[in-house]
Amino acid sequence: TQPLLEVTDLNVTFQIKTGMFGRRPLRAVRDVSFSVGAGESLGIIGESGSGKSSTGRAVLRLIEPSSGSIRLDGQEIVGLPQRELRGLRSKMQMVFQDPSSSLNPSMTVGESIAEPLSVHTDKSKHERREEAARLLELVRLSKRQLDRYPYEFSGGQRQRISIARAIALQPKLIILDEAVSALDVSTQNEIVNLLNEFQAELGLSYLFIAHDLAVVEHIAPRVGVMYLGELVETGPTETVFAEPRHPYTQSLLSSVPSPTVSDRATKKRIPLLGETPDPINAPPGCSFHTRCSYALDICRTEHPPTVTYGADSAVQCHLHTTGPKLAGRPLADMP
Ligand code: SF4
Ligand code: MG
Repeated sequence: TQPLLEVTDLNVTFQIKTGMFGRRPLRAVRDVSFSVGAGESLGIIGESGSGKSSTGRAVLRLIEPSSGSIRLDGQEIVGLPQRELRGLRSKMQMVFQDPSSSLNPSMTVGESIAEPLSVHTDKSKHERREEAARLLELVRLSKRQLDRYPYEFSGGQRQRISIARAIALQPKLIILDEAVSALDVSTQNEIVNLLNEFQAELGLSYLFIAHDLAVVEHIAPRVGVMYLGELVETGPTETVFAEPRHPYTQSLLSSVPSPTVSDRATKKRIPLLGETPDPINAPPGCSFHTRCSYALDICRTEHPPTVTYGADSAVQCHLHTTGPKLAGRPLADMP
């Protein structure tokens, strides 16, 4: 069966101004491929600047992909004219870290929630208000609060309101970009539980972008790890967190303060060497080689191939290549 969302060889390149006249390409997303099934969730993790947000925004065409394919329900989105894109927008919504990016401070929350309905449906004003009331209660707020303004709510409540607005059009996919990162842990848990409930009831799919691994684990059964614009490892979250195969994933997990995640992963601490390279000058070969404790000569010159494990795991690293040069030893045995 065809996945709900299928992203193939996605590239996003920004032209960055350097000095007065110069421009240089910054490859924010590099040959990224993944898919999300209907009713499934995929987490995307990685440091800031790894291309997670750019990937999410490109899927919605909030930024333009420079090449690649994005299919939603089999329909190609890349290259689609804006007018046709509008129709698709009701199928895909985004929730940002800062609720004020989707909630207009001068509109009541009822108006904000109902706004997408006035753009995309022919519901009457009364019907839209009724629907906004229903959605507000769905996110566990009282419909008596419909006529209040965003400033009258806490950060967690505002994020619930953003979610109510995002589900107003009954989308198939919601992209959540650090949607709970600014909230305290108990508010995070409430919202994650709510999202899980909606998923079960409404059959939603989530692309859940976050740097907090513990949160990702509670919402996404599958995860992808990004580094410098590339997806370097994907697999079931449980497997990736317990037995990370990519050296970057290993370092990332061993640097996690959260005991719920890092205790299960290899006890061995794998340091991240040096600094994150400037993405304008991404290293040749494996872009992680400047920070990798395992780097081989080949890593400095040749881009690593993607090696798959079973049906749903993949890793982009020379250590996993079977062949005469590097007998594919499991990473745990490496120095
Ligand atoms: Fe490290 Fe080489 Fe694997 Fe890159 S390809 S992660 S440098 S071992
Ligand atoms: Mg980001």
